[in-house]
Amino acid sequence: MRELDHTHDPGRRSWVESSVPGTDFPLQNLPLGVFRRVGQGEEWRAASRIGESVVDLLAMARGGLLGNWFTRRADLFVGPLNRLMGAGPTVASRLRRSLSEALDATGSVGRDARRRSPVFLHEASDVELRVPADVGDYTDFYASISHATNLGSMFRPDNPLLPNYKWVPIGYHGRASSIVVSGTDVRRPRGQVTVAPDGPPRFGPSERLDYEAELGFFVGRGNALGETIPIAAAQDNLFGVCLLNDWSARDVQAWEYQPLGPFLAKNFATTVSPWIVTWDALRPFRAPAYARGTADPTPLPYLYDEDDQATGGLAISLTVELRTARMHAEGLPPVQLSRARASDLYWTPAQLLAHHASNGCNLQPGDLLGSGTISGPTKESRGSLIELTWRGAEPLTLPTGETRRFLEDGDEVLLRGRCERDGFVAIGLGTCSGRVIGCDD
Ligand code: CA
Repeated sequence: MRELDHTHDPGRRSWVESSVPGTDFPLQNLPLGVFRRVGQGEEWRAASRIGESVVDLLAMARGGLLGNWFTRRADLFVGPLNRLMGAGPTVASRLRRSLSEALDATGSVGRDARRRSPVFLHEASDVELRVPADVGDYTDFYASISHATNLGSMFRPDNPLLPNYKWVPIGYHGRASSIVVSGTDVRRPRGQVTVAPDGPPRFGPSERLDYEAELGFFVGRGNALGETIPIAAAQDNLFGVCLLNDWSARDVQAWEYQPLGPFLAKNFATTVSPWIVTWDALRPFRAPAYARGTADPTPLPYLYDEDDQATGGLAISLTVELRTARMHAEGLPPVQLSRARASDLYWTPAQLLAHHASNGCNLQPGDLLGSGTISGPTKESRGSLIELTWRGAEPLTLPTGETRRFLEDGDEVLLRGRCERDGFVAIGLGTCSGRVIGCDD
């Protein structure tokens, strides 16, 4: 693990007044995204976020506020983040240090930047955000052993976990074109579902629409076709983390998934949060890899690295909240449905990445890897409705008296993520939200 540096120092504060203690976006976070001002006909460009403000990185670079190197390479901040991702971890770290210095409340660089802040600082409410990279390929894994065990128990009570699970990270290729940014409505999909065990299926609206609370990992430099990414080098190829909701039509999934896995049940929409928390920002919040039971196999050598075992996990807590149309109309806040920890994932992000490239498959800057639904061992930590309601058998009762087995039209699902550790300033991943609208809306 590369060491912490002054950008993680809990004593540092920004001159941006909204970066108050408790915000998801203090000076120690500095996530990256892509923005433009609403209604100005502007081009998309790279940004960071601090407190309630959005920082225009292209304007800063052109104005010399990030140092000479980034003034020469201002092209890295034009459009989606793929070029910056492909520039590698040294450039990402350099950007973090420069930005941290410019936004610091003390020092001459920070004072100069503050004086010139009208050029690059915008209120978050005045801008629109997009999916932060052009995602060429999207792969979703199945890295939570509790989630895999819960789902397996419903379908195979005697044998919930298949024999490959503890040896090989399970995943499937998702659809990149339907990845949308937080705040985008999600239309209820139609699909083939079974009506009676031996009868013909019907085609119509899914009646078992669900969410899956996950983390998304953006690939940095990646690898050439035919080459691999050794596990020890995997972290240098991870650019950062976002929140990810893998919307799932359970009735469609149950009929179509054999023998090739998920298809139309999942590729109608995947929502991501707009801000990528960088790998550097996460350094204080690293955790040991999942503590495998003594009967579990040791990972094969290509998935095993001492440093990854010691610090390859992430101490990120992930909450799911729901706000129904009625709660919205009555001005009620969302209700929390679950809270899980990314440190409960059976595989580390580095293992997922190394495995993906282990056959020579080329990963490219901006590719997205989903963790799979993050569930923990307790009921309160189940990251999907199918687990919380046990396939609908145990409906949830909400504060309004409404009940839910699966999502209904008008329901809004909100994911949030926080990183906390004693001795460090907590940082957040922001919000990943989406509202379900009807098939014909
Ligand atoms: Ca998933």
